[in-house]
Amino acid sequence: MEKIYIGVAWPYANGPLHLGHMCGAYLPADIFARFNRIKGNEVLMVSGSDQHGTPITITAEKKGKIPEEIAEYYHKIHVKDLKRLGISFDLFTKTTTENHTRVVQGLFRTLYDNGYIYPKKVQVLYCPVCKRYLPDRYVEGTCPFCGNKNAKGDQCDECGKTLDPVNLTDPRCKICGSIPKIRESEHLFLKLSAFTDRLSEWVEKNNHWRASVRKFTKKWLANGLRDRAISRDLSWGIPVPVDGFEDKTIYVWFDAVTGYLSASIEWAKIRGDKNLWKEFWKDERVKHYYFIAKDNIPFHSIIWPAMLMGYGGLNLPYQISANEFLKLGKDQFSKSTGVCIWVQDCLSALNPDVLRYCLTVTMPETKDSECKPYKFIGYNNSELVGNLGNLIHRILTFTHKNFGSVPRPGPLIKQDEELLERIDVTFKEVGDFIQNCHFKRGLKSIMDLAQTGNKYFDQASPWKLIKSDRERCGTVLYCTLRLTKAISIMLEPYLPFTSEKIWKLIGYEGNIGQHRWNEALTEISPGQKLRKPKILFKKLDFCAIFEHPFGNLDLRLAKIVSVEAHPNADKLWIVTADLGMLGQRQLIAGLKPYYSREQLLNQWIVVLTNLEPRKLRGYQSEGMMLAAQDGEKVSFLTLDGKGQPGDQITVDGIMPQPKTLLGIQDFQQVELTIDDKGLVMLEGKALRTKEGKIKTSSRVRAGSKIC
Ligand SMILES: [Zn+2]
Ligand SMILES: [Zn+2]
Repeated sequence: MEKIYIGVAWPYANGPLHLGHMCGAYLPADIFARFNRIKGNEVLMVSGSDQHGTPITITAEKKGKIPEEIAEYYHKIHVKDLKRLGISFDLFTKTTTENHTRVVQGLFRTLYDNGYIYPKKVQVLYCPVCKRYLPDRYVEGTCPFCGNKNAKGDQCDECGKTLDPVNLTDPRCKICGSIPKIRESEHLFLKLSAFTDRLSEWVEKNNHWRASVRKFTKKWLANGLRDRAISRDLSWGIPVPVDGFEDKTIYVWFDAVTGYLSASIEWAKIRGDKNLWKEFWKDERVKHYYFIAKDNIPFHSIIWPAMLMGYGGLNLPYQISANEFLKLGKDQFSKSTGVCIWVQDCLSALNPDVLRYCLTVTMPETKDSECKPYKFIGYNNSELVGNLGNLIHRILTFTHKNFGSVPRPGPLIKQDEELLERIDVTFKEVGDFIQNCHFKRGLKSIMDLAQTGNKYFDQASPWKLIKSDRERCGTVLYCTLRLTKAISIMLEPYLPFTSEKIWKLIGYEGNIGQHRWNEALTEISPGQKLRKPKILFKKLDFCAIFEHPFGNLDLRLAKIVSVEAHPNADKLWIVTADLGMLGQRQLIAGLKPYYSREQLLNQWIVVLTNLEPRKLRGYQSEGMMLAAQDGEKVSFLTLDGKGQPGDQITVDGIMPQPKTLLGIQDFQQVELTIDDKGLVMLEGKALRTKEGKIKTSSRVRAGSKIC
């Protein structure tokens, strides 16, 4: 048995948690923690709400509240969302506790006494209009490194560099927009430069880190470590415990990272043994894992380790699992820019395991990944319902109905042995993947095993055997129940609620969490009574949060009534299209090199009618005529079957709810392709009118894109 410490990034309590938080830190940390617990390791996983700092005061000022109110309000929401999603913290606390204040001040004081904190006069920004100092996030301006116009005073989200407000080019006060003045003020600094050699040596040793983390950290070190201001002219925060600086507070990054330690101390007190935290922090054999998003790397690979080195006697990070960003379209998930999908909204539409599944599949482990919530419905319906849920349900209903309990197996044949071997192989794979923080691949292995199980069940056809050979039928079911048991255990880190349900259905008492990872490979006792099967996952329809972007398009069937040459362009036709009840539209189409007037006149075409009108060489285009192109040929889309001008074009299962006017990027989000019969497809389904289908007018290569 090992002891494992897991520290997870502290979310600012200035808004609810969004899917980016979950994918980036909480869910991977939870999968890792659950895996280690079920393996029999002793885990301490902590985090909490970051309640201090300017993100909170700015939100409070905007809403006309005091910082405490905002911080408490969102802390409660964090706790609730994490619990509903099954994130199994041993303690999720906050930075406004007395314990935390004491630990932060203690650490601060020790670093000061050890000579790692010193005072220095610096230039700070002061807003003459607001009559106040402007620490970090009260200033915005242009990043001096990459030119990003909206860099925050403490950090540029574009290039990832940490900044000082006075270094911003054209800084502006975030509250009133005026240009701040530079003033002098005395602040305390952390002597980061003093740790350069020790940190470099330590980073060199950690060659098990993710490549991205190592690279980022080494670059930081190579650029030279600069001492960092550690106090602020701000009243909301932990007071600096040094004479002469009582009116200043400790900078929030110092405050927040110390939470990893303070939360452990608080946890020990709650457990009733105030020294218990030392077993995790002072025993060098205990590995410390941190789960964060990539914008947090320097704080965990340089600054926090430096603080720990300066304090002495505490464990340094062993692994820093930093995920890339989850994006929505081109933008990074962010509370400050409002590019977000909230966890609470998703949980009102999806069961927590479905959300955990979708987030794991989307997890930005090695590169930024794009979150497409409409795909969640597909993951649920085809992967959870269609593969996993289907497998477990057919095994359990059939066995329950015909045997009632786990059948006693007869002699195993080759196919049975192969299935059991496959369980073995998957078991090893999944364990290795999770241990190395490749969570997506671990889940994929389990789902592949479920698919193998479905094939085995189909081939063995127990519904036929039950009539011809009851013993053989029992053997097949016994093997599938072994599979079910293994899947139930391997799923526990990923889908804990479902895993627990399966565990109960196959007749076990007690919580699956009290059982062990290795039991995935052990026997299931013949004669063990099965409980009445229940459906694990339900098919989902489309709902507001997970609206498919196709639903935004108003695509209509139209008939071309006239074609004129564009007077100012060689390649453009001016097409007039009849849309029936919707009237006639003028469209500018770049089809002249491919189609003559005669080839177009009277043809059925597909028009995107709610595209913002735009002028092309002086003539207005009131919509877009769709065509497919494969790099050589271009073919407009037309109708195969019957139709009327103005007929709506739809895809089964997606409710059309066109937005009034779209930009071209809204259309480009929808990935329409051509299949080998020339039909226009969206994710495997054909575009259609009531009585016909949409196809290309001439042959283009399958897989062609629509433009
Ligand atoms: Zn930048
Ligand atoms: Zn101002």
